[in-house]
Amino acid sequence: PPVYRQRYERVYEILIDPRWRNKICKLADFGCAEFGLFQFLKHLNLNEIVFVDIDENLLEEKMYRIQPLIGDQLKRRTSSLAISVCLGSVSDPDYRLLNTDVVTAIELIEHLYPDTLDAFSYNIFSSINPKLVIITTPNVEFNVVFNKSNIFRHPDHKYEWTRKQFEDWSENIVTRFPQYKVEFHGIGKYSNYENTVGCCSQMALFIRKDLLDEQFVPSVDLNTCLCDINSPCKD
Ligand code: SAM
Repeated sequence: PPVYRQRYERVYEILIDPRWRNKICKLADFGCAEFGLFQFLKHLNLNEIVFVDIDENLLEEKMYRIQPLIGDQLKRRTSSLAISVCLGSVSDPDYRLLNTDVVTAIELIEHLYPDTLDAFSYNIFSSINPKLVIITTPNVEFNVVFNKSNIFRHPDHKYEWTRKQFEDWSENIVTRFPQYKVEFHGIGKYSNYENTVGCCSQMALFIRKDLLDEQFVPSVDLNTCLCDINSPCKD
């Protein structure tokens, strides 16, 4: 399958992991674009999906993709599924995202300027504090396969990271938000090149430790940092 589909498949595989599949009810898909992930999400036992994107025209144009199909009417879900579409930036806290169990951000972060990227991580890992966070981004090392060593894959990309840069960014998140651990996956193998340049896309899976019944010792007194979602603390 094409790489975009392999990304969706990998997200789906992660979400049906028996360690947490029965503990996730609400998912927010950040930078949802054309709602492509929905065709996989609708087969999960979720109760609520919130799609977020900043491109109003795109959301309006593609909204038909989250409408029930005839097949869905014939073979109905056993539980209800509420879907909302929010126009806005992934950097902004929003009460509609409270109690979200999973945040996905597929091929989004490379579209964000550094200040928005910072606010995005703060919004997710502090305000929302979900059980799982799945982030994918291009692996720039792979660009030699496309003969695009000197230019980005898409004109709107603000940067493209090596595996080391993405791992450093993710490890830094885990240092700042120690209730999480992170693991990395490659998506889109190309056998001639995999050993040297890795996969086409790279994924970081952040897991909140209490989901695995792992304890963590906070390095700061959490009582000093109780944030109101509408006015996140700045430190
Ligand atoms: N996640 C999509 C998928 O898997 O098919 C693809 C994402 S597309 C490459 C990037 C999307 O991020 C675009 O739809 C763009 O409008 C959105 N985006 C860019 N900056 C954003 C922001 N600050 N807040 C929300 N969405 C943003």
